[in-house]
Amino acid sequence: MSISLSGIGVSRGIAVGHAHWLERGVTEVLEASIPEPFIEDEVARFRRAVRLARQQLKDIRHAIPETTRADITDFIDTHLLMLEDSMLTLAPVELIREQRCNAEWALKCQRDELAAVFDEMDDPYLRTRKDDVDHVINRIMRILLRQESIPELPGNEAKSLRGAIVLAHDLTPADTALLQHQGVAGFVTESGGPLSHTAILARSLGIPAMVGVHLGAAIHEGDTLILDGEAGVLIAEPDEGLLKEYRRRQRQAQKRRTELNRLKDLPSVTLDGIPVHLNANIELREDVRAARRAGAEGIGLYRTEFLFMNRDDIPDEEEQLRQYSAVIRSLKGMPLTIRTLDLGADKDAAPCAEMQDHVATNPALGLRAIRLCLKYVDLFRPQLRAILRASARGPVRMMIPMLSSGSELAQLLDLIDEVRQELAMDGLAFDPDMPVGGMIEVPAAALVASLFARHLDFLSIGTNDLVQYTLAIDRVDDEVTYLYDPLHPAVLRLVKMVIDAGRSAQVPVSMCGEMAGDARYTRLLLGMGLTDFSVPPNALLEIKAAVRQACVSDIDALVRQLLASDDTDHIAQLLNTINEL
Ligand code: PEP
Ligand code: MG
Repeated sequence: MSISLSGIGVSRGIAVGHAHWLERGVTEVLEASIPEPFIEDEVARFRRAVRLARQQLKDIRHAIPETTRADITDFIDTHLLMLEDSMLTLAPVELIREQRCNAEWALKCQRDELAAVFDEMDDPYLRTRKDDVDHVINRIMRILLRQESIPELPGNEAKSLRGAIVLAHDLTPADTALLQHQGVAGFVTESGGPLSHTAILARSLGIPAMVGVHLGAAIHEGDTLILDGEAGVLIAEPDEGLLKEYRRRQRQAQKRRTELNRLKDLPSVTLDGIPVHLNANIELREDVRAARRAGAEGIGLYRTEFLFMNRDDIPDEEEQLRQYSAVIRSLKGMPLTIRTLDLGADKDAAPCAEMQDHVATNPALGLRAIRLCLKYVDLFRPQLRAILRASARGPVRMMIPMLSSGSELAQLLDLIDEVRQELAMDGLAFDPDMPVGGMIEVPAAALVASLFARHLDFLSIGTNDLVQYTLAIDRVDDEVTYLYDPLHPAVLRLVKMVIDAGRSAQVPVSMCGEMAGDARYTRLLLGMGLTDFSVPPNALLEIKAAVRQACVSDIDALVRQLLASDDTDHIAQLLNTINEL
């Protein structure tokens, strides 16, 4: 009889293979007291384990073929760096000495302390970095407990992994990279989230994967499994009919991937000849690789606030300049749009001491993004200087989030002028013509988009916030997610107003909110006159495919009808018709 389990699908694709169980996490650690004369022996045992863990990682790094992409080996380097950090090397030694306890217990206490710090972080992406700490600590722990660790599997076991769907409590990114080279078909873990490094790796390696599955004792070694990494479904011992159906879907998905990859170097142009710019959104420097792989023209949104999060200090001008320059270098001449700080609301809001005690009653409507930057100019000025200086090193544009009024805009432009003069006086190079643009993500700004178009070099529509503020729906509140609707007539009309305002002022308008990366909306947006999209790298080729299949002149009348409607059902119907043409 077949069993079906559900979980979180983190990497698309269907895998069919036999179950192969790997380690089931680290055994429970017990506290033992160490007599005084043996304390230093215990310290030495701990240090040996750390050395061995380092050696293991170096061996793994060595065993990974040269052709492996740098983003995979970067994970291993990150873990190697962690093994040099005093939080993992010195703190447990102090605990062993102070508490006279065994090395495993000291390491466990340190892990609990670090986990608590990570759990308190507001940002979900950074919170999942806890996985890296766990992976490194587990490696040391397994050595202390003399447990087997995955990468040291003997050759014949490695052979049995070919075509297997690997089941584990958790997998480190290093394990994941090795598993790929052993030809696994997919993996399923009990722990982890969609933003964990392992999930990110699975996606970039293209291995179907699921996390958060309660595997229990339901699945046995060697069972035939079907893994649907998109739907988040795991089926054990499927019948012939199910197997046939999933194999068919597998072939279909493979065909789709091959087709999409072929589009990478093809022009992004509609059937009726309208050229469309496809840029990528990035959060971290490393994301540039994915953007390049997808054939992005440039970066339409670099969310710099990630540089400011999860640290006690603020990155100074030089550090920011280094980071921006590194992104410019990896883009090899492609344009980079650096968005100034968008802190506040759901993004960590207190990077400087004056702000620590400020509690906003309604953070999304409070001191956020440009408002915060104009209030704390000492925080903002180094970023403006760094971005301007970066503009001397490659094609850079500066983009300002959350603008809402003319006076705010005037204040901002005066400040940028002041910074330009300062830099000139300091004899520091910058591009005096660096374009400055604004995000239109507040309904007020959309309604007076022509004002912003007159004073700025480009506009970019941030639908994530525009939907939130237009419909009064907190974008991070689960309770109202069902009301979050980019197709709401009010949202569509505001988007259209911005596109039209840009066109009349001959100022380019792009869209960098998630709506731009959803292929269901591509034709509609093209029909509304949008020709510049900035999307997450993994969505880029799907959008290119949609662009290349669209004929804007054919849908023109339907789009006008859709925009004139205020009946949501009718809008949905018209969108279907547009997409089916
Ligand atoms: C947006 O609001 O659409 C946007 C792109 O910015 P963020 O998601 O960072 O708020
Ligand atoms: Mg926004």
